[in-house]
Amino acid sequence: AKRPPVLQIKGLTSHYGRIQALHGIDLQVGEGQLVALVGANGAGKTTLLRSISGVQPASGGSILLYEADITRMTPDKRVRAGICQVPEGRQVFGPMSIEDNLRLGAFTRPQSDVADDMEKMYTLFPILKEKRLLPAGTLSGGQQQMLAMARALMGRPKLLLLDEPSMGLAPLLVQEIFRIIVNLKSHGITILLVEQNAHAALSIADIGYVIETGTITLSGPGPALLNNEQVKSAYLGM
Ligand code: ATP
Repeated sequence: AKRPPVLQIKGLTSHYGRIQALHGIDLQVGEGQLVALVGANGAGKTTLLRSISGVQPASGGSILLYEADITRMTPDKRVRAGICQVPEGRQVFGPMSIEDNLRLGAFTRPQSDVADDMEKMYTLFPILKEKRLLPAGTLSGGQQQMLAMARALMGRPKLLLLDEPSMGLAPLLVQEIFRIIVNLKSHGITILLVEQNAHAALSIADIGYVIETGTITLSGPGPALLNNEQVKSAYLGM
């Protein structure tokens, strides 16, 4: 039998007071898929991510995780249900060691799994192993992004939400971060990637969605969207 989608969003609306930020969003993420959501500043990407993690209430529509309705579930329950977000701007705990940051990411996990999972993270991100006893604040921006991802993965998420992971990084590091995202996908991690860097995100995405003023205006296989004339002129500067 076909597995149900990990995430299914149907007709989702969201308001800030009287201002409507999302106008009936439909979006799906299948198991093991890498789905990219791209759009300009203020299009509603962050609002949609916040709605999925539960910190922004839905005013209408529904959000399903493996067909279970989580639309009204509190954010902490969603984390326990398997939705982990890597926030924009990383937000690692600077004074704490890298290892302690990782340990925090495992707070929902049985403690017996933590050592094993930490070793897995050190295999995926060798630089974190090298620096594991140093304060996280001493890492470069790109390394902090890696730590933020590793910390989220310590919760063994069913769905990993990445909010603008390339933001503020130099081009070489952006490439590195995108290589890591592809590597995570190859390990079977299901990912929803939100990016302003439409070219990089669509290049690696199984499925892409374009959001404009709170509405999905286009969707399809990532490479097909890259070749779409509308996307080229609006987001790729061609
Ligand atoms: P960015 O890339 O800048 O983060 P975005 O695509 O994530 O942009 P959102 O931050 O989700 O866009 O914003 C969507 C819309 O909702 C915008 O019109 C924005 O002005 C509005 N908005 C966002 N946060 C608030 C808020 N706290 N109060 C009122 N309006 C808000």
